Amino acid sequence: MSADASPVPAAVSAVPPAAAVRTKVRVPLRFSDGWETTVDVFTFTGLADGKEHLALGIGDYEGVAVPLVRPHSECLTGDVFGSQRCDCGPQLREALERIGERGGYLLYLRQEGRGIGLYAKLDAYALQDDGLDTYEANRALGRGEDERDYTAAAQMLNALGVAAIRLLSDNPDKARQLAQLGTQVAERVPTGVHISDANVRYLRAKVEHTGHTLALPA
Ligand SMILES: [Zn+2]
Repeated sequence: MSADASPVPAAVSAVPPAAAVRTKVRVPLRFSDGWETTVDVFTFTGLADGKEHLALGIGDYEGVAVPLVRPHSECLTGDVFGSQRCDCGPQLREALERIGERGGYLLYLRQEGRGIGLYAKLDAYALQDDGLDTYEANRALGRGEDERDYTAAAQMLNALGVAAIRLLSDNPDKARQLAQLGTQVAERVPTGVHISDANVRYLRAKVEHTGHTLALPA
């Protein structure tokens, strides 16, 4: 992917190669706040980057005409350890519950640190502690501001037979990339805002730099 957050290069606008569902297995989930649900976890063959991405079918995902879909990029520190430097953990938890209410999918994408990887993300945190924002830190490491690519996400949706989605996201780049990959974004549904003293600078950078539509307090 290009180092630029926008615009998406025209070369991306192509229907991705076909992938297929490999397995589907039922997994009960329980979160630290006590909330529980049961999801169908899908694995795939033929994903473009060869990574082990997952789709979670939640609620009545087979019964809705246009499922609610959240592409969630892996964040080990936030999703697993509850890091407060970002809002990924609360975003993931919220997304699962909201998707469960309406029926849809969470796509768990293995592109840590906006695609630069876990160690580089932690290196970027160290630079942020010296005063850079999250995007400047990536550039200082010689990486793109956002290297995420949603080709595998579009492939998974195609393999699941999903042509149109209601996209649970505040990130305009996700909507743009998915549309160019042939997924019809019928509606964009905003996420909740999970603000804290530890992540406010990060969230503000997302809004100011890449046009995230988060409604942050002034
Ligand atoms: Zn995170």
